[in-house]
Amino acid sequence: MRKITVAIDGYSSSGKSTMAKQLAKKVGYVYVDSGAMYRATALYAIRHGMTDPEKGVDTAALSAALHDINISFTIASDGSQHTLLNGEDVEKEIRGMQVSGWVSPVAVIPEVRHYLVDLQQKYGRDKGIVMDGRDIGTTVFPDAEMKVFVEASPEVRAARRFQELTEKGTPADYDDVLANIRERDHIDTTRKESPLRQAPDAFVLDNDRLTREQQMDILLKLFEEKTCGKD
Ligand code: C5P
Repeated sequence: MRKITVAIDGYSSSGKSTMAKQLAKKVGYVYVDSGAMYRATALYAIRHGMTDPEKGVDTAALSAALHDINISFTIASDGSQHTLLNGEDVEKEIRGMQVSGWVSPVAVIPEVRHYLVDLQQKYGRDKGIVMDGRDIGTTVFPDAEMKVFVEASPEVRAARRFQELTEKGTPADYDDVLANIRERDHIDTTRKESPLRQAPDAFVLDNDRLTREQQMDILLKLFEEKTCGKD
């Protein structure tokens, strides 16, 4: 069975991370959450005074600081993957509303994208990887053997995100979450540098209408086809 690269793209909170994580676990591949890398970068910018509600992100300062931003992943005691920013576990903080509010403006900066895409490509050098994000099948791994594009309505995605935040004990308001999702969709699809687009050769998965089990069945079937060399 040949080792392949799996690229899973889609809108915010479309359920792609859960799907990507489950698939990686089932097939014994490495999982990389590229959104967490943008989130950790946004957290760094916030903590270093590079974000201002009036002026936006200080692009020059953040671009100059990129090589001081070290992002890695670790497995926590409960088996879940946590993001480290310069060695500090920031998993909880990067999922909160403050980072969610700044992450898309940070992710439009070309220097940030080049830095993180380069890192993502290094992670995927040996294949055997499942990566999820916005531009994985188009920019990071345009030659990925398996590409999936996950679709779901903004309302379904906001309800899912709201539930996740509430379960983790993070205070949230449904309308704020929905507004943030719409705002991020807009920024992610209209930015100049590698906007969120469905790759022409991606398999489209409609997450509104399928159960988790149905989605996993589809993904595993696709994976089997691709690793056996069929199209
Ligand atoms: O996937 P998640 O919602 O955690 O991603 C957070 C944000 O990071 C997205 O809204 C998008 O602005 C940015 N992102 C990106 N490219 C990726 C992954 C995430 O621009 N490959």
